[in-house]
Amino acid sequence: MTSLERVVVVGASLAGLRAAETLRQVGWSGALTIVSDETEMPYDRPPLSKKLLAGEWEPERIRLRRPDDFDGLRAEWVLGDRAVALDSVNRIVTLASGRRLEFDGLVIATGAAVRRLPAQPDWPGIHTLRSLADSLALRTELEPGRRVVVIGAGFIGLEVAATARTKGCDVTVLEGAEAPMMRGLGSAMGRRAALVHADNGVEIRCGVSVAELTRGHDGRVGGVRLSNGDVVPADVVVVGVGVTPSTAWLDGSGLTIRDGVVCDEFLCAGVPGVYAAGDIVRWPHRLLEREVRVEHWTNASEQGAVAAKNLVASFGGDEPTAYAEVPFFWSDQFTSRIQFLGRAEPDDDVDVVVGDENDRAFVALYHRDGRLTAALGVSRPKQVMPFRRLLAERATIDEARALAASFGV
Ligand SMILES: Cc1cc2nc3c(=O)[nH]c(=O)nc-3n(C[C@H](O)[C@H](O)[C@H](O)COP(=O)(O)OP(=O)(O)OC[C@H]3O[C@@H](n4cnc5c(N)ncnc54)[C@H](O)[C@@H]3O)c2cc1C
Repeated sequence: MTSLERVVVVGASLAGLRAAETLRQVGWSGALTIVSDETEMPYDRPPLSKKLLAGEWEPERIRLRRPDDFDGLRAEWVLGDRAVALDSVNRIVTLASGRRLEFDGLVIATGAAVRRLPAQPDWPGIHTLRSLADSLALRTELEPGRRVVVIGAGFIGLEVAATARTKGCDVTVLEGAEAPMMRGLGSAMGRRAALVHADNGVEIRCGVSVAELTRGHDGRVGGVRLSNGDVVPADVVVVGVGVTPSTAWLDGSGLTIRDGVVCDEFLCAGVPGVYAAGDIVRWPHRLLEREVRVEHWTNASEQGAVAAKNLVASFGGDEPTAYAEVPFFWSDQFTSRIQFLGRAEPDDDVDVVVGDENDRAFVALYHRDGRLTAALGVSRPKQVMPFRRLLAERATIDEARALAASFGV
């Protein structure tokens, strides 16, 4: 490697955009190419299950930047073309169109794609949700009185359920685990945070297993058959069973792929000048003391910036920065805003420290071996965000309880 003259960013969503912006912000002025298999300029995904899906916002509102800001990046945007291979020895990305992009530096930001059910049919009425087009297609279906079945009670599934219910649909959520949002919040807090759905007339059925989708007489989806033989009738089915990192194009590249692109703590993917950012990254988190992959907005935004800075630093011989921020995400469901800091394990202890048993707004602290591991706030932004500092300092649960007591609520 000599100098950093050409950078290719693959993936033009949040992480890729933040990487491109940061390259320019740190004063790098070389040739920048940004590749996306989507035809849209970068847009924000969280509204796809919330205000855009509800019809309260239109697509222009979710553009991540104004047209002038995109122009200001002085980049070549290659939209509607897919990266199909990476030659990490000769430093070339090949696109589906046959175009070959040579690079000195590469940022991999291809994110994640939705999982489908095994043998999922393509009948009308069956939806998944990841892109703007997915959200617009689903929103035309959310008419009052329609029966919507959401498969999967994760954050996105439950946001869709809340939006569909708000639009007057009759909504049922089917979940295999024993509680909603279990992977993120654990079972007790997942159940509690989901009470707002029962309050609003959404039925969540946990511990059920989906056998197959059934077809109605009109050729559309007609229902969901469970393993016990029951059929839940549906006019619309939304499959929200998680995502897998979009790494297929990296097969044969020599990078280590293990449920994501395996990086070091500086987000370098094991080849000098090749970095990754966002939902696709698996890296050793210094603060959490384990390898993680995070599928949330703040992580993608922060990692895009860190990957770009470290890429430039690696050519300048400067010290890189480890990415070890406290993980954070939010989810909006009906009037509830869930905010979560840190990372909890299923067997962590958890105590509610703000809000009594019947409160829909509360704060809970997760802990293990006397140490604070995570903080959950539901509609309590002022009382949950202060725990970020304590998590960064690896505080004890006693210190965290003392902070909670100081709120006086
Ligand atoms: C409906 C929805 C709601 C969400 N709500 C929240 C929320 O409330 N809070 C929160 O914290 N997070 C939320 N998220 C998660 C957040 O949006 C993601 O963490 C974030 O988008 C990740 O950004 P990324 O750039 O890493 O990847 P992505 O956003 O997945 O972008 C990757 C891009 O790369 C493109 N691409 C993939 N493969 C290729 C290829 N081979 N060649 C070229 N381009 C390719 C993809 O098409 C895509 O445009 C939500 C996500 C969704 C889908």
